[in-house]
Amino acid sequence: MNSSKNLNSTYIMAHYFHDKGKFNEVQGSISKKKFKEIVKNNLSKNYIYTFDDSLKSQYFIAKKILDEYNLKGIFFLNTFQFEEMYNFNEISKLFIKRFYKNKKIFYRDFLKRIKKQIKFNNKDIKEFKANCPFYDINEIKIRVVRLKNINLYNKILKEMFLSKKFNYKACQRKIYMNKREIYELSKKHTIGLHTHSHPFNFHKLNEKEQYYEIKKNKTILEKIIKKKIDVISYPIGNFNNQTIKVLKKLKITHGFIANISNKKSHYKISRLNINKL
Ligand SMILES: [Zn+2]
Repeated sequence: MNSSKNLNSTYIMAHYFHDKGKFNEVQGSISKKKFKEIVKNNLSKNYIYTFDDSLKSQYFIAKKILDEYNLKGIFFLNTFQFEEMYNFNEISKLFIKRFYKNKKIFYRDFLKRIKKQIKFNNKDIKEFKANCPFYDINEIKIRVVRLKNINLYNKILKEMFLSKKFNYKACQRKIYMNKREIYELSKKHTIGLHTHSHPFNFHKLNEKEQYYEIKKNKTILEKIIKKKIDVISYPIGNFNNQTIKVLKKLKITHGFIANISNKKSHYKISRLNINKL
């Protein structure tokens, strides 16, 4: 990574993209047209576009536009999808789109299934509400389940998928880049880490668990791209002091968060959400 540019560039963070073809609009996704406009209108601003979560729409939509303008992006990738693991959270975005008129109905269905399997604690709900005042109470409850009990969260989603005969395995293959696409991407763009399985509570894992998540992610990706990797973006921007120790051990020199922070360091590089541009 070119460290001279590092703390002075503005890093933009993006996830999903949609077009009129094979990629449907999901919550927060950016249209191909909009992304092209953003890139074109900000050419003078030294923006560096960064992308999280290994999403195929980034390869087919964002990469094309970056290449057109000869810009080099940073793609932070997870690797669980190469090991028969499923990200029920990401799959649920397409599931909701296909089977629900709106997210509120989905939230109600989810919480009906959960019944007494979890006890919501007022402190957790309040804490979430303070950080994310724009979420309604049902969305907050579901996010609390995701943070506190990922196994239960996944179990409920899987039940919902099966009840609608939704082929979630095929759906996942449509969401993530394959190895060939990652290799192609690495020819012009920087590949970064984003942990192996994208734990939502990454900052709560102990040092050994964090090491496993990062080391495994690094090993798989370096084998695919045949290059060393020295950058990471933390899942949901979550990290702690132990993470920095692990990164130093693994020769990762730069870490990116998911928002803007005034405290700048190589392990806490701010990113501006593309939806805020
Ligand atoms: Zn992510």
